[in-house]
Amino acid sequence: MGAKGKPGGKSGGRGKGDAGRGVSRRTLLVGGAAAAVGVGLLARGDLAHMWWQVPGVDKPRKAGEVDFRGAEWVAAAAANWRRADRPADYAIDRVIIHVTQGSYQGTLKVFKDPWHGAAAHYVVRKDGHIAQMIRELDVAFHAGNREFNERSVGIEHEGFVDRPADFTDAMYASSARLTAGICRRYGIPVDRKHIIGHVEVPGTDHTDPGPHWDWDRYMKLVRRAYTERRAAKA
Ligand SMILES: [Zn+2]
Repeated sequence: MGAKGKPGGKSGGRGKGDAGRGVSRRTLLVGGAAAAVGVGLLARGDLAHMWWQVPGVDKPRKAGEVDFRGAEWVAAAAANWRRADRPADYAIDRVIIHVTQGSYQGTLKVFKDPWHGAAAHYVVRKDGHIAQMIRELDVAFHAGNREFNERSVGIEHEGFVDRPADFTDAMYASSARLTAGICRRYGIPVDRKHIIGHVEVPGTDHTDPGPHWDWDRYMKLVRRAYTERRAAKA
């Protein structure tokens, strides 16, 4: 989020067309699989089995499961994201940092609203508490750019871009651990080319996280968390 004067605006860049293309892509993939074997020869069970092999659909999921230990699961409305099978169908190589331009509770509320059309994977509260609202497997509508939605994990931070005091020590520390974990899970390099602000997404009119987000400090914390995890695992 973070566009001034655009509360509830289309930060997801979803629109009706995105959902429509998602469906047609599935139809095409299944159609292609069926055509390879010969249309009409597939029993229902075979088709179900082939569906299973098609990237992008139906990995087993447990309700309430999170990708980052300690995060609280708060489901976003299904209209604000697209089901996927990342990183099998889309490689994940970016973490995108946002600032909500609102409160933590207000952000959860709009991400749970199917009419909002946008949501991020995570929301970090000022005290460091993290809500996960969309699985990393799935494509969240947060970057306002279809390609960048597909390749990224989005993290929102409670607060306002023009209020530096909103970015607390606890928030930086907790978000840095989250980002380090994402980098480790998908082999993303810990640098500013791969950990970017919403403002750096091509074509965006959003300004978040804004000039008061301390990138030097944040990247140092991410690097430290990343190295500590590595050391702990070795
Ligand atoms: Zn944003």
